[in-house]
Amino acid sequence: MIGPDRISLNTATLRQQWSLAECIEGCARHGFGGIAPWRDKLHEMGVDAAARAIREAGLAVSGLCRGGWFTAEGSLTQAVIDDNRRAVDEAVAIGAECLVFVVGGLPNGSRDMPAARALVEDGLARTLDHARAVGMKLAIEPLHPMYAADRACVNTTRQALDICDRLGPGIGVALDVYHIWWDPEIEAQIVRAGKDRIMAFHVCDWLVPTKDMLTDRGMMGDGVIDIPHLRHAVEASGFGGLIEVEIFSADNWWKRDADEVVRTVADRVARFC
Ligand code: ZN
Repeated sequence: MIGPDRISLNTATLRQQWSLAECIEGCARHGFGGIAPWRDKLHEMGVDAAARAIREAGLAVSGLCRGGWFTAEGSLTQAVIDDNRRAVDEAVAIGAECLVFVVGGLPNGSRDMPAARALVEDGLARTLDHARAVGMKLAIEPLHPMYAADRACVNTTRQALDICDRLGPGIGVALDVYHIWWDPEIEAQIVRAGKDRIMAFHVCDWLVPTKDMLTDRGMMGDGVIDIPHLRHAVEASGFGGLIEVEIFSADNWWKRDADEVVRTVADRVARFC
């Protein structure tokens, strides 16, 4: 059975209920092994204060969400480059395992997917130079293809690993069951990724029907994803990190009592992951 010490709470799971300070305290109280903050909550608390509180609570940081959005302004502006450098520095400050990337979709008004993807790769390469210098790992999170236009034009694990192959050491993938479960190549790509390039493993569940593309993720056990199969695959490849629980759920889990959600997460990871 997977105990709470193997779980990391992604703060998106309690986005509506708890501040980062409350998430840190709650994770420690429920015996979780780690936390994965989003930058909005991190900035709200202050990077130094958060780093101190996380350290004092004895929590690992399975990742910082997120860098990326390279296509937001249609080109790699200094603002986009600088923001990603800052994200790297913040990940270092809080002792994160990796900085997770949601790379960005099509620029406004564009229909040119190859151009968007080239922009993303260029942005990752430039961020990687800085990340290598300060010792932070970068993790591309391939997103389900339904987000190709508005969030991420890297949509399969193969595509992400092709980028990693071209860019070299220091960059890998964050594998989220919500985005990868449907992929007929996923087992082979997990083997290809290997220990050094699987930097994070995120869980939730795919509900049928899904009522909202972004904010209707399920609690583990409530949907159709064979989570143990994917977990065994990443662990067979050498991944030994925490199981990060990341649930965007506007109509359900975001409306519940936070401690009830945390208890449910621990129970569902034990039974369905
Ligand atoms: Zn994720």
